[in-house]
Amino acid sequence: MIVEPDAPLPERVETLVIGAGTIGLPLAVKLAETTGKPVLCLDSGGWSQAGDTHPLNAVEQRGDRYDGADLGRFRGLGGTSTRWGGALIPFQPADMTGWPVSSEELAPFIGEVEQLFGLDPGTYHGSDPMLDGPDMVPRLAKWPPFAKRNVWKLLEGEVRRSDTCSVALENVVTNLASEADAIRVEIARPNAWHVIHASKVIIAAGAIETTRLALLLDRAMDGAVSRMSPLLGRTFGDHLSVEVGRIVPRDRVALNRLFGFRFARSGMMRNLRFELAPETPLRETVRPGFVHVGYATDGDTGFDHLRAAMQAVQRGTMPSGGAVAGLLRDLPWLARAVKWRFADKRQLFPDGADLVVHCVIEQGHERDSRITLSDTLSDAHGTPLPAIDWTVTPADVEQLHALADIFERHWDRGELAGLGTFERFPRAGVEQALVHSGGIYHPTGSTRMAASAADGVVDADLRLFAEPRVQLVGTSVLPSGGGANPTMTALLLAMRLAAQHGRASRRQGR
Ligand SMILES: Cc1cc2nc3c(=O)[nH]c(=O)nc-3n(C[C@H](O)[C@H](O)[C@H](O)COP(=O)(O)OP(=O)(O)OC[C@H]3O[C@@H](n4cnc5c(N)ncnc54)[C@H](O)[C@@H]3O)c2cc1C
Repeated sequence: MIVEPDAPLPERVETLVIGAGTIGLPLAVKLAETTGKPVLCLDSGGWSQAGDTHPLNAVEQRGDRYDGADLGRFRGLGGTSTRWGGALIPFQPADMTGWPVSSEELAPFIGEVEQLFGLDPGTYHGSDPMLDGPDMVPRLAKWPPFAKRNVWKLLEGEVRRSDTCSVALENVVTNLASEADAIRVEIARPNAWHVIHASKVIIAAGAIETTRLALLLDRAMDGAVSRMSPLLGRTFGDHLSVEVGRIVPRDRVALNRLFGFRFARSGMMRNLRFELAPETPLRETVRPGFVHVGYATDGDTGFDHLRAAMQAVQRGTMPSGGAVAGLLRDLPWLARAVKWRFADKRQLFPDGADLVVHCVIEQGHERDSRITLSDTLSDAHGTPLPAIDWTVTPADVEQLHALADIFERHWDRGELAGLGTFERFPRAGVEQALVHSGGIYHPTGSTRMAASAADGVVDADLRLFAEPRVQLVGTSVLPSGGGANPTMTALLLAMRLAAQHGRASRRQGR
C-alpha cells in the first residue's frame, strides 16, 4: 500500500527499508513476500521527480566535478529507474576476484531480476566465434523496453494490493542512531518530524546517500563504525567513458547489424560490447572495462527525437511536442527504422552518424577518493551535505589507453577489420575528455563489502560490521566497478538479501 505524505506513520517497526528506488522498491516487495511480515519502505521523494535535478541531491564537490551527484540520481517512486538506461548484465566471475561473495552465489537470482524487468532468459555471452579473441570476449547486455525500465511501473500493482509492504512518500531520513533495542531513525516529513524505532534497517538510498546515512550513523555512534571499518566512505570510484576513436565503415549495413540494438520478440533489446576475456593474462595489469561501438549525432535526428519520446514513456509522462515534431520531420528515416525494427530486428543507425568507439574503464578505488560529511554545508533539513573528493588520476588515463590498445589489436586481428577501419583519436584530446568526463553514474566502493572490517564496511551479507542490525545495499557495496554496468549485480545482492531474510523468518516460524 502507499502511505501518503500526511498519513500517520508507526513509531516502531520490525523491518524498515530506506529508499523506494531501483533497488529498494523490488527489495521491499520481495522482503514482504518472503518473510510474510510487514515491511515499511520510506522514500524522500513523491510520486515522481519532475525536473532533472533535486535540491536534496546537492553535494560539496571537493575534487574533480563528479556529475553523478546532481545529474545521476532521482528521487521518488522508482528512484533513478525513472531515467536510467536499463542495461542489465551481471559481472563476469573474473571481475569479482577478491569479493566475499562469488558469482555462483548470485547466479540463482538472475532469473528473478530478469522476470522483474520482463527480460528473456539466456546467456549474456556472445556466441559468434568471429568476435572472440584471446584477450577480449563479446557480451550482450539485456535492456528492457522503455515502458518496463521504471521499477515503480513494474511493481505498482503489487504494492497497491499488498497489505504487508507499505511505501511512504516524502519521508526524508535525516539521522540514524544505534540504541539498545532498536535503530532510531529520524525522519523529516512535509510538515513534521517523526521518529521510528526499527529492529532492522536496510539502507537502499543510492550509493551516495547510503554512504551519507552510514556516515551519519557513524557520527551518532561517536565514530564506532569508522574505527572498526576505516574504509567507510573511502575507495569511491566510477566508470569513466570516453570516445577513443571511430570506425570508418567498409560495410555500414553489416556494422549496423552487428552493433545496432537487437530486438527480441518480447521487446527486450540487446547490444554488443567487448570485455576482457576471463583468462587473459592482461587482467594482471589492466582493470576490467568494456568497449562498445555507438553513433554520434547532433541531437536533432529522428533517432534522437524517438528516444526522447520513449524516455517520456519511461518517466510516465507524455512525449513533448518538440519530440513529436522532430520525429515527424524525419519521416523517411522513421519509415526505414520501422522496417529494420520489425524485419531485421535491429535498430537503424541514424543517417550519416559517425560510428564511434567508447572505452569504459574502471577507476582504481583509491583510498583518498572518498565521501565525507561536509563541515560547512547542509541541506534544507540541516543534514550535512555529502562532500565528494573524487579525481581522475594519471593511472586512470594509463588504463584507458591500455584498454583502447587491447581493443585495437582485437579489432585488427580478426574479421572485424573487414567491416571497417578502427581509427584512433589523438591521445591528447582523448586524455582531455577523460579528465573532464565526470563519471557515468556508476558509483561504487564507498561502503564496500569485504570479508573483514579492516577491508570493508559491510560483510558478505551486507551487514555493517559495526552495527549488524543495519544492512546496506546498492552499488556502494561493490568493492570494484567491474567490466559492466553495476546495477544488475547490486540487484542480485538485494534479491539474495531478501531470500536470506525469508529463510531466517521461516526458521523462527514467522
Ligand atoms: C541516466 C542514467 C543511466 C543509467 N544507465 C544505467 C544502465 O544502463 N545500467 C546500469 O546498470 N546502471 C545505470 N545507471 C545507474 C543506475 O540507475 C543506478 O545504479 C541505480 O538506479 C541505483 O539504484 P538505487 O536503488 O541504489 O538508487 P536510486 O534508484 O537512486 O534510489 C534511491 C532512492 O532512495 C531515496 N532516498 C535517498 N535518500 C533518502 C533518504 N535520506 N531518506 C529516504 N529516502 C531516500 C531516493 O528518493 C530514491 O528514490 C544509470 C544512471 C543514470 C542516471
